[in-house]
Amino acid sequence: MQVSIGVAVNPEHGSHAPELIRNAEAAMHEAKRSGRATWRTYAPGFTSAANSRLALEARLRRALRQGLFELHYQPLVNLEDGKVIGAEALVRLPRDGGSEVGPSEFIPLLEDTGLILPLGAWVQREVCRQGRQWLDEGKAIEVLAVNLSATEIRSGHVQGQLRDILAETGFPPDRLELEVTESGLMSRGSQAVEFLRSLKSLGIKLALDDFGTGYSSLAYLRRFPVDKLKIDRSFIRYVPDETGDMQLVATIVAMARGFGLRVQAEGVETEAQRLFLKKLGCDLWQGYLCSPPLPAAAFADRFLSSTGLRMRMRRDISTMQAKAGYTERQLSPVIDNLMRIAAFFAPFWTDPTKINNTYLCTR
Ligand code: C2E
Ligand code: CA
Ligand code: CA
Repeated sequence: MQVSIGVAVNPEHGSHAPELIRNAEAAMHEAKRSGRATWRTYAPGFTSAANSRLALEARLRRALRQGLFELHYQPLVNLEDGKVIGAEALVRLPRDGGSEVGPSEFIPLLEDTGLILPLGAWVQREVCRQGRQWLDEGKAIEVLAVNLSATEIRSGHVQGQLRDILAETGFPPDRLELEVTESGLMSRGSQAVEFLRSLKSLGIKLALDDFGTGYSSLAYLRRFPVDKLKIDRSFIRYVPDETGDMQLVATIVAMARGFGLRVQAEGVETEAQRLFLKKLGCDLWQGYLCSPPLPAAAFADRFLSSTGLRMRMRRDISTMQAKAGYTERQLSPVIDNLMRIAAFFAPFWTDPTKINNTYLCTR
């Protein structure tokens, strides 16, 4: 457990108890914002910060009550062949008249207030529902990744909740990946391994998120039953200019190999970064070079190939072939090439600006 302390002193910071308590609370939130496990003495600027926090909290509660949160999906790309194999789901708070607030800002507040528990449950259910729908539409989805916060890990509800959601939605467990951080796992102390095993028993995949920013202990890595390491964006940012970061990335990839884990880089924005990772033998990447996170429909439209479409095309071509008298064997390579060409050019039919990055990550 970590303790954050706020201090308000009479008479400088208030002349009566309610005012002192309010200001001590504002100072305590400032201590939390400064990284927790510390203390702050009240200063007048803290009041406006506390007011903004209250306003944001009210907005988050309303969004949760009215079902206003949205999920965006960022493609995960195979480095070997450039194929999009799935997506990471990232939650978004619609502006709804207010200012733009990203999850890095509102997730900590949701954690402080406990609201992350109902939001997390909604995220998991919505991802599994969406994934099932895409599979039913014949779209190829190998993996959908969901972030799990420290509060959810601590709560003890995740395993049962996920078991129910998977049963309800019919999404195949081996296509769901949970992203957990080492610091999140530390909140379970000695039970972290047992917690991960209980998730694995559901058949789902596990990824260690933000790898390299926390404890990154080899002993943990050996004991944690995870499938994948995700290299944090902060290490990719200065590739290929920072030799230190490049060595660190190379070490993480080698380490993942040594432990038999897959490895994925996030925050890939340049072709130089992608090529560097490819040379290292990194398995997967995500980043603006391919696409930012997109609303579900836009993501599916742009990145999910439809085996339904493939089957329809094959059926139409078979009818044509019967009429023309060619055999299946003669036409098969032609059909495959037609499908490849159609998949490659499909995004440009609706948006020619996509030509810059689509060759790196295709459907
Ligand atoms: P994360 O899990 O490390 O997610 C990756 C973040 O990097 C996302 O930020 C994504 O939009 C951003 N990103 C991806 N590629 C690039 C790139 O090429 N350049 C740059 N500059 N950024 C890139 P986002 O969506 O703002 O999310 C921030 C954090 O909020 C996430 O970090 C995650 O910790 C948390 N978060 C988001 N959605 C959820 C959720 O549903 N549940 C929980 N518990 N946490 C979430
Ligand atoms: Ca993540
Ligand atoms: Ca990260």
